[in-house]
Amino acid sequence: MSAGWLRACALVMLGLFSVSALAKDKTAIVIGGGLSGLTAAYELQNKGWQVTLLEAKSSMGGRSGMATSEWIGNDKTQPVLNKYVSTFKLSTTPAPEFVRTPSYLIDGEYFTAADLATKQPATAEALKRYEKTLDDLARSIEDPQNPAANSTLFALDQINVSNWLDRLNLPATARQLVNQQIRTRYDEPSRLSLLYFAQQSRVYRGVADRDLRASRLLGGSPVLAQAFVKQLKTIKTSSPVSAITQDKDGVTVKVGSVGYQADYVVVAVPLRALNKIQMTPSLDAQHMGAIKGTNYGWRDQIMLKFKTPVWESKARMTGEIYSNTGLGMLWVEPALKGGANVVINLSGDNARVMQAFGDKQIADQVLIRLHAFYPQARGSFTGYEIRRYSNDPSMGGAYLAFGPGQISKYWRLWERPIQRVAFAGEHTDTLYPGTLEGALRTGQRAASQVEDLAAGKSFEPAKVVPAATAVAAGAVAAKKGNFFTNLFGGSDDKPAPVKAPEPVAPVAPAPTPAPAPTPAPAPAPTPVEAPKPVTPVKAEPAKKAPAKAAVKKPAAKVEAKKAPVKKAEPAKKVAAKPAATPATDTKVQ
Ligand SMILES: Cc1cc2nc3c(=O)[nH]c(=O)nc-3n(C[C@H](O)[C@H](O)[C@H](O)COP(=O)(O)OP(=O)(O)OC[C@H]3O[C@@H](n4cnc5c(N)ncnc54)[C@H](O)[C@@H]3O)c2cc1C
Repeated sequence: MSAGWLRACALVMLGLFSVSALAKDKTAIVIGGGLSGLTAAYELQNKGWQVTLLEAKSSMGGRSGMATSEWIGNDKTQPVLNKYVSTFKLSTTPAPEFVRTPSYLIDGEYFTAADLATKQPATAEALKRYEKTLDDLARSIEDPQNPAANSTLFALDQINVSNWLDRLNLPATARQLVNQQIRTRYDEPSRLSLLYFAQQSRVYRGVADRDLRASRLLGGSPVLAQAFVKQLKTIKTSSPVSAITQDKDGVTVKVGSVGYQADYVVVAVPLRALNKIQMTPSLDAQHMGAIKGTNYGWRDQIMLKFKTPVWESKARMTGEIYSNTGLGMLWVEPALKGGANVVINLSGDNARVMQAFGDKQIADQVLIRLHAFYPQARGSFTGYEIRRYSNDPSMGGAYLAFGPGQISKYWRLWERPIQRVAFAGEHTDTLYPGTLEGALRTGQRAASQVEDLAAGKSFEPAKVVPAATAVAAGAVAAKKGNFFTNLFGGSDDKPAPVKAPEPVAPVAPAPTPAPAPTPAPAPAPTPVEAPKPVTPVKAEPAKKAPAKAAVKKPAAKVEAKKAPVKKAEPAKKVAAKPAATPATDTKVQ
């Protein structure tokens, strides 16, 4: 019997029963129906809170609802995700061994990692050298929760990954493949802080690819969001929050002209979406800077549909394949009626360049490239779907990817509640940002912070060891190889004498902890090249307009909004016909 119920019985017996008094006791609003918001709402509800979840869109699940086909990690690598999978008794299917490790498409030829070693040994060797150097760098970080623990590590935050890669002098093909991996997982190397890249490599150090792609949820990741939705009592969709006002008694959240009141709020929306919510009292300059400036990686997905697989292997399913040019990272998925689909992920500046193009033009671009490698492609092509996460205003990018100088300024900023507001979302996780696991973890953290706030706890700024005083941490790093040999390769793992950081040329700005210098922004994406005329793509008409993968709402649980209901967004359209205008070739790496 829950404590709330016992309390209600006691109040009834005393003749003092009041629903409003009970409700007033523990009320929370969660803003955002992605996995972080759903987790926060679920955990708070389980602890006896009356929770109202407000979601801007007509469907639930946020970004997880769109990426339908990701593989999930096992218990070892994604414990929180696996815990909910078993709590909700969701079915999974194990990943076949051949999809668990990445492979490569080099100038149209397919290579497994083993093939690469025998057929392109120079590329394979260079990739190994890159991985070893990155691993050495990752080892320099003792505690991934405190990556800028000494002034030398702090300095890495001022360098971008592209500059670091330049110094490795990788052969062209290896560099293209490395760029593709980095931009797919994070963002364009030139836009990424080397410290963030090293910190993430530290988090995943020793984690095998096969453990990260261990199984798939039957029905894709939307089923997880759906499982949460089924548990929640009060969800209001089509409810974009425009303002949050806090005072000493509570919080008021505005959706259009409707105001919702509660004791506490969990804000579980991406930073660009938070920028559109008016906060009173307003956020300080550091938070505002983070909202506006924190870099997000870009990634858009284009699914090309084929009657039959047109690639040599006839494979209807593959793991992730990194192309050295043109096709980004791609994989093959089985189609329901016997065909096969290719999902092409254009990331980083390739996705940015594509913003100038309409959906059909983008599909043409990738079909042109695929057709160049597989000449039956056009004949077998039946249609496409596009998911453009990057220019969705409620996201402003695919996921967090700290740019140069941003760890120094914003590290762990959103972990700390501000009065009655706690923050959740993949971007607020220190270890697993940009993942389902990260989103779930932050929902749990925010729920427990709300409990703590209600219990009178105050939150101090996260304790980060100041760079200038972190000699001890530097010593640990030094024990694991000379830092600068780790940085650009050549570590022998022998203990090195502990020294103050030497002034080494490649590490640019002075390694002082504050104020953080503002690194120059990454250059704008390469301008689109002059189009070359290419034969129009001929294909069968696409059968049906695709809807964005949406979580089905259980009618009983999702309440209709009482005040003005925002119209559901129309599903994105697919070309009803084959490309009618001549397709042109544009530069995408
Ligand atoms: C292309 C792509 C591929 C990915 N692949 C993987 C993968 O393979 N593995 C993996 O683990 N992770 C992957 N991820 C990352 C994962 O999907 C996200 O980390 C996770 O879903 C983020 O959840 P969230 O709750 O933080 O944010 P979201 O899911 O974005 O939820 C935020 C919610 O807030 C709502 N909202 C915004 N503004 C308002 C407002 N004003 N009022 C009310 N609601 C509002 C939004 O509509 C949204 O529903 C991928 C992401 C993308 C984009």
